[in-house]
Amino acid sequence: MEGYVSLFASQPIPKDLYSINPRLIEPSWWHGQRQWAMDNNKNLCGVCGAKAKEGHETYIYDFPFAVYAGVVPVCKDCHAFVHLNLQYQAWLRLNTVSYEDLLRVSRRGVRMCIDHNVVPNSKILHTLTRIWSPRMEDEVTKFLTDNTDQPPGLPWLYNSPNWRLYFHDNVYQGGLIRTRKRDGTFARKFEITINGFTDSNSKGDSK
Ligand SMILES: [Zn+2]
Ligand SMILES: [Zn+2]
Repeated sequence: MEGYVSLFASQPIPKDLYSINPRLIEPSWWHGQRQWAMDNNKNLCGVCGAKAKEGHETYIYDFPFAVYAGVVPVCKDCHAFVHLNLQYQAWLRLNTVSYEDLLRVSRRGVRMCIDHNVVPNSKILHTLTRIWSPRMEDEVTKFLTDNTDQPPGLPWLYNSPNWRLYFHDNVYQGGLIRTRKRDGTFARKFEITINGFTDSNSKGDSK
């Protein structure tokens, strides 16, 4: 599985499926799958071959369905580049990622893309343009300029609220719902529907 740099080009997970995934729906099953994938790849990152520490879920997209396809063992840096937007948000809003790390992970990912002739998905490209000032004249700015005419992927699909997860013969929809309370603040509630029915067990305040 080593050398799977094209993972960076795979379609980003649609917004509405961020909080519905096999890892959250069936944690013990998923951890077993992750372990199996790790063992199967000798604990090496499927993208770069470094030591794998995490698992990345993959899907086959056939709107409105995202069909769970499996888990790829990944190292921290490759995983950070796959979810570069989350790293960027973590730096911007939470201060849990340093600016140096954000630049390092970006540079590393772009170098791998150049070496393997891979254009990352529109979400990664877009995040790179937010991180990289045009004044930073280097390999990354050149890479971004070279790839500005890439089709933007499927933005309307990415943002569509109609996505459903197909997993273990069930159709899941929903996730985090924001509702405005009387005092004007927002409450966040986690609610999933399975095959069109609300799962009462999944209701309640999220953490
Ligand atoms: Zn890696
Ligand atoms: Zn992931």
